[in-house]
Amino acid sequence: MIDLTDALALVEQAASALPPRRQGLADACGLLLAAPVISDVDSPPWDRAMMDGFAVRGADVVESGVTELDVVVDLAAGDVTALEIRAGCCARIMTGAPIPRGADAIIPVECVIDDSRGAHAGGRVRLRDERFRPGQHIARRGTAFRAGQEVLAAGMTLGAGAIGLAAEAGATHVVAAPRARVAILSTGSELVPPEAVPAFGQTRNSNGPMLTAAVKLLGAEPIPLGIAADRPEAIRASVAQGLAADVLVLSGGVSAGDLDLVPEIFRLCGVEKIFHKVRLKPGKPVFFGVFPREQSPPTLVFGLPGNPASSLVCFDLFTRPAIQILAGVAREHWHLPRSRARLTAPAKAAPDRPVYLPCTLARTSHGIDATPLPWTGSSDLLGLAGAGGMIALPAGGTRFEAGAEVEIVIK
Ligand code: AMP
Ligand code: MG
Repeated sequence: MIDLTDALALVEQAASALPPRRQGLADACGLLLAAPVISDVDSPPWDRAMMDGFAVRGADVVESGVTELDVVVDLAAGDVTALEIRAGCCARIMTGAPIPRGADAIIPVECVIDDSRGAHAGGRVRLRDERFRPGQHIARRGTAFRAGQEVLAAGMTLGAGAIGLAAEAGATHVVAAPRARVAILSTGSELVPPEAVPAFGQTRNSNGPMLTAAVKLLGAEPIPLGIAADRPEAIRASVAQGLAADVLVLSGGVSAGDLDLVPEIFRLCGVEKIFHKVRLKPGKPVFFGVFPREQSPPTLVFGLPGNPASSLVCFDLFTRPAIQILAGVAREHWHLPRSRARLTAPAKAAPDRPVYLPCTLARTSHGIDATPLPWTGSSDLLGLAGAGGMIALPAGGTRFEAGAEVEIVIK
């Protein structure tokens, strides 16, 4: 049995970033960019109308008066014209259309004097723009960025805006850290899939969908392997399958009961144990090991306790940082953030190991309030479902009263 801090350090030591790969933009959201994106176009690519209105020659505009012009062409976004706008003329133009030659400002449609509001090509328009500035409402070619310019730097996480920018810059592919492939296996002869109505003695597999969701939320790729009954051949076959992934997250069968076969099966499959059992509540039986692979970094192997709440606490504490490290994210994002909060109800520490109590968190004028969730035992998902974080109580058996300041982990 080892201390939580030592266990976490061992996980950090065993994990390393997966080598970056070229991958399609369509599935790159949330990934860490490993090589810069260079644009192949100017932005805007040409002088672009930024308002619906009339493209005019500034020299024709009568300041503080009415400008009357012949409309020679109608230009919607996507329309182009070879026509040049000459003195006394203008183009009716929509936002996003290229500015025709000769024109150098847009007078917005709001400035049209009533009777000529509908003026199109062949008609005449009367305009009054009290705030006219030369060059107004035109985005000039290349003023945002130039062809050949770096628009996204290596090391940034690709959010929705960055994906849009990469698309504009012509990057159909990016070089980024790949999504870690995470196999998820639930063990237990009592388990049935969620769509089954459990018979007497059976339990729905909630860990499978829960851990799949947790993996997805981290941006990794879950590979659900379903349920393996507590028979050595069944578990062994599924474990062998899971060991091909970057991470194997197994739940159940890691404690000290007669049917807790998993640690021995891991050994038989070639998994090297790094630790088994951590001073932690819940989550004492947690197992961590590595499985060496020929061409890739070792598979990281987590055996989480079967109790759903223990499983999730252990995933958040141990598996999450491993997945973050594989994804290449900066150290400060490996673990869930910690803060201080004020208890709204008493909470009791364990004498011999730290306790992680699911809680709700609320921001107040003086900081954060933490309310421990009613928890009837470590299999209680009802409390966990609404938990915004965990109260982290140090070993020592202290009873913390309402109002006491404690450490929290924010989810
Ligand atoms: P174990 O760690 O295998 O001893 O399981 C501890 C408790 O968690 C038992 O009550 C199991 O029925 C329950 N359990 C194990 N795996 C799951 C699962 N995938 N979904 C829901 N409950 C589970
Ligand atoms: Mg079991």
